[in-house]
Amino acid sequence: MENSDLQALQKLDAAHHIHPFNDNAALAKKGTRILTKGEGCYVWDAEGNKMLDAFAGLWCVNIGYGRTELGKAAAKQMDTLAYYNSFFGCTTEPTVHLAAKLAELTPGDLNHAFFSNSGSEANDTILRMVRHFWAVQDQPDKNILIGRFNGYHGSTVAGASLGGMKGMHSQGGLPIPNIHHINQPYWFGEGGDLSPEEFGLQRARELEDKILELGPDRVAGFIGEPIQGAAGVFIPPMNYWPEIQRICRKYDVLLIADEVICGFGRTGHWFGSEYFGIQPDIMTLAKGITSGYIPLGAVMFNDRVSNVLRDKGGELAHGYTYSGHPVCTAVALENIRILQDEKIVENIQGNTGPYLASRWKELGEHPLVGEARVVGMVGALELVPNKPSRAFFEDRGKVGQLCRDIALKNGLILRATNDAMLLSPPLIITRGQIDELFEKAWKSLNQTAEALGK
Ligand SMILES: *Cc1c(COP(=O)(O)O)cnc(C)c1O
Repeated sequence: MENSDLQALQKLDAAHHIHPFNDNAALAKKGTRILTKGEGCYVWDAEGNKMLDAFAGLWCVNIGYGRTELGKAAAKQMDTLAYYNSFFGCTTEPTVHLAAKLAELTPGDLNHAFFSNSGSEANDTILRMVRHFWAVQDQPDKNILIGRFNGYHGSTVAGASLGGMKGMHSQGGLPIPNIHHINQPYWFGEGGDLSPEEFGLQRARELEDKILELGPDRVAGFIGEPIQGAAGVFIPPMNYWPEIQRICRKYDVLLIADEVICGFGRTGHWFGSEYFGIQPDIMTLAKGITSGYIPLGAVMFNDRVSNVLRDKGGELAHGYTYSGHPVCTAVALENIRILQDEKIVENIQGNTGPYLASRWKELGEHPLVGEARVVGMVGALELVPNKPSRAFFEDRGKVGQLCRDIALKNGLILRATNDAMLLSPPLIITRGQIDELFEKAWKSLNQTAEALGK
C-alpha cells in the first residue's frame, strides 16, 4: 500500500472507528496498524512487513490463514441459501449437521448444541439457561454462578460479569447480582511456598468454601476456562480440575467449561476438559470452531440439562437472529473437516507439541524469564527482574509491552498480559517455524534485557 493511502486510512480510522480493548486516544495519535494479508502462520501489514503470528489472530486461527476451502464453503452456502433462521420450527442443513458433529466431537453426553455468534453470547445463553434449569425444578433460588478472579468469559453483560476482570467490572456497573468469584489457580504469581499440587488443591477447595458460605441450595453452577487464557495463560496443576469436578458433583452444582480458547485442538486434545480429565455438564465454544474465518459460538449441553430444559422448560424464550446461521455453520463444518482429515490435533500430540514444549523450555533458560509454561499450542513466558525469584517487576506490565513491541519489530507477534508473553500459534505451525519462533523470541528477549540495562 502507498504510504499516502495508509495515512489516509489511519486518519479515517482515528476519526470514525472505536477499537475494542484499546486506549483510543493514544491509538488515534499513534496510528492503527492495518493488516492486509494472511497465509499459513504469517500475516502482512500495510507497510509490507511479514510477521510470524504466534498468537493466531486472537487465539482463533487454528488451521492457519488462507485456506480457500472455507471461503468456498461460505460462497456455496450463500449462493444456495444465504440465510434462514432456526426459529418457528425451521432450520437449515449445515446447522443440523454441525450440531450432530459437535455432539460427536465433544466428550461424554454433551449431545445438544445451541448456537450463538460469539463466545460472549454463548455465555449469556448459559447464564440464562442454567438459572432456568433450576427454576423449572422448583429451585428458583439456586441461581448463583461462581466464576474466578481474572477469568475471561467475554465482554457482554453476562460474559463480563461471569469473568473476573476488575477493569471490566468498573465500566458499566458489573458484575450483575448473584455472581461470585473465587481465586484463580495461578501458582507462579500466587502460589507462595506451596508446591503446585498443594496450591492446586487449596485453590479448588475455595470453591467448596464458597458453596458452603452461600449455601448449596443457592449455587447453580461454576464456570472456568480449563486454561485461563486472557489472564496470562494460567495452566492449573493437574489436580485442580478433578477436585473442582468432585466438589461440583458433591453439591449438585453444574460444571461449565469455557472452552472458547482450549477447544478445537489448542491443548493437543480436542478439548481442554479432556486434557485435564474432567467431564463438564455444559461447554462454551467459539473462536477455533471456525478458526476465526467467520463469527460463530455454541453452547453444548449434556443430556441431563437438555432433557430438563426440553421437558419442563416450556417454550424457550431465548435466541439470536443468527443462531445457527447457515453460512457460519457451513464454514465450521469445513474447518472441522480440515482439522480431522489433516490430523492436525494428532500431529500436535505426537510431533509439534513436544517439539514446541522443548524449545519453549529453552526460552525459559533466558535470564529474563522466570517461568516458561506450555501445553500443546498454548503457553506463556513470565518475565521477571530477578530470576529465579518469582517476584514481579515493580511497574507491572511495562516490560511485557516493551518486549511485545520489540518482538513485533523482529517480525514476531506475541501478546503481553502484565509481564507475561503469551503464545497461541496456529495449530499447523511446523518444526521449522517453531525454530523461527524460538530465534525471534530469544533475540527479542535479549533486546528487551538490553533496553532494561541488564
Ligand atoms: C474470547 C473468549 C470469550 C469471548 O468470545 P467472543 O467471541 O469474543 O465473544 C469467552 N471465553 C473465553 C475463554 C475467551 O477466550
